[in-house]
Amino acid sequence: MTDHEKLAELLFPEDLPSPEELEERYPLRKIKEGERVTRFAPSPTGYMHLGNMFSAFIDKLCADATGGIFYLRIEDTDKKREVEHGVEKIFEGLTAFGIVPVEGVMGENEEKGDYGPYRQSHRREIYHSFAKKLVKNGMAYPCFCSEDELNELREKQESENTAIKGYFGKWAKCRFLPFEEQKRRIEAGEPYVVRLRSDGDESKKIIVDDLIKGKIEMPENIQDIVLLKTDGIPTYHFAHAVDDHLMRTTHVIRGDEWIASLPVHIQLFKTLGFKPPKYVHISPIMKLDDGNKRKLSKRKDPEAAVSFYKEEGYPKDSVLEYLLTLANSNFEDWRRANRDADISAFPFNIKKMSGSGALFDIAKMNDISKNIISAMSASEVYDKTAEWAKEYDGEFYALLTKDPEFARSALNIDRDCPKPRKDIEKWSEVKNYLAYFYDELYTQDFTLPENISPADAAEITDAYLKVFDIDDDKDAWFNKIKDVCAPLGYTPNVKEYKKDPGAFKGHVGDISTVIRIAVTSRRNTPDLHAVMAVLGSDKVIERLKAAEDFWKNN
Ligand code: GLU
Repeated sequence: MTDHEKLAELLFPEDLPSPEELEERYPLRKIKEGERVTRFAPSPTGYMHLGNMFSAFIDKLCADATGGIFYLRIEDTDKKREVEHGVEKIFEGLTAFGIVPVEGVMGENEEKGDYGPYRQSHRREIYHSFAKKLVKNGMAYPCFCSEDELNELREKQESENTAIKGYFGKWAKCRFLPFEEQKRRIEAGEPYVVRLRSDGDESKKIIVDDLIKGKIEMPENIQDIVLLKTDGIPTYHFAHAVDDHLMRTTHVIRGDEWIASLPVHIQLFKTLGFKPPKYVHISPIMKLDDGNKRKLSKRKDPEAAVSFYKEEGYPKDSVLEYLLTLANSNFEDWRRANRDADISAFPFNIKKMSGSGALFDIAKMNDISKNIISAMSASEVYDKTAEWAKEYDGEFYALLTKDPEFARSALNIDRDCPKPRKDIEKWSEVKNYLAYFYDELYTQDFTLPENISPADAAEITDAYLKVFDIDDDKDAWFNKIKDVCAPLGYTPNVKEYKKDPGAFKGHVGDISTVIRIAVTSRRNTPDLHAVMAVLGSDKVIERLKAAEDFWKNN
């Protein structure tokens, strides 16, 4: 046995599966040429940034576009950052927005697929198997340097002002330890990490053809990076190479903060004898802040959290549709040409993604959402609102579900027509939208426009109360409003008013405004005839009387 082989036996158990066994256990996938295997690989920190969900969505689109596989892997190697139910939160967060993996982690304790386990914390022996192989080949070694020693090294490099800093070459003192000393220290129980013995040459370049960023050239890695930490847990770099190889990922799609680590990753794939995947680095989502572009920030922007969209009650399609506008700039043209198509029909093209960060614009997202909600049926709006309210507003939920038919009729006004109104952006707005249909939510506000006096408003309501009949159809209803005009000095004819405004107190629009305010306390509502029909005769009369009283006395 060589010293390297003896060292490997000292560091790792005998009964680890061999890399060859693992290659067999996880064979090449039976996929057709061109089918992509992508993965979303978050850490269960309890927080999902919109940028993470964006990249998960791109993973899914990218796989779906080829009939491939999108799977979920949990990178839980940093126990300090992990939160309770973190995995469940990720899975539910994704599925709530329709980004459902077909393989991998499927919930807190569930997995599906032949390439698991899909949680890094359950893959310890797999990482150790490959680390052992590297030690055996002399490509990895234990490093016993303490924090203090590493600090000393750093200080020395500072004072000597070396061009490159870090643990490499002659500075990597544990590289040179004789086997006897390694053995003594391991047997004495000294803590150690396992480092790569880098064979990189900084005068040479790695070249990666990134699908979004294009050709990336960087100097080779010369650092003896850590593969396994003192507790035997792999670093991101090592786990990335082992997992994406064994899980047979074809496209690694991730945030572009990882570009800096590409030389390490390319080197690891090469040293381990793996074929590197295709890399796709996504730029972060940006935001305009005081005229300056900056990253959408967890600390500063509530809308950076995926939970924000669920809590506010944005339909999943609004979020996905908006993210698609950020992903492919031709999406909006496609949408205009295919108004009713499902977004899964959009021919997503990863190469059309922008290499610089897309700008997040909540106003645009809200417009998209209004459009999407306006195209839904009243029943759908009712169901989705109730589902949202059940979780976030118990009182409203109780009110809404007390009489579903009533709620649906209210929501149906101006909806089932060629040009539905676009009033609602998200489910949390429905309560306010419907407030005047429910006494429990209704607050009187009889503020009048400046051109109408309370005395005139009282006269108008009084006259209207005398003729109001809930059974009137729309024409009869409107004729009655017109009939109120003349005796009170208003004209039913807006054109006539415009020709000679001095001749009238106002026109029919003012009359209906007063009636609208009296009945709903709002100046802008959907079709008032329909609103009254839903409220019912008693309620309309009660409201008209209350308004008349108010205007008489104020
Ligand atoms: N766990 C890494 C992260 O959350 C995954 C990066 C990757 O997709 O490779 O940033």
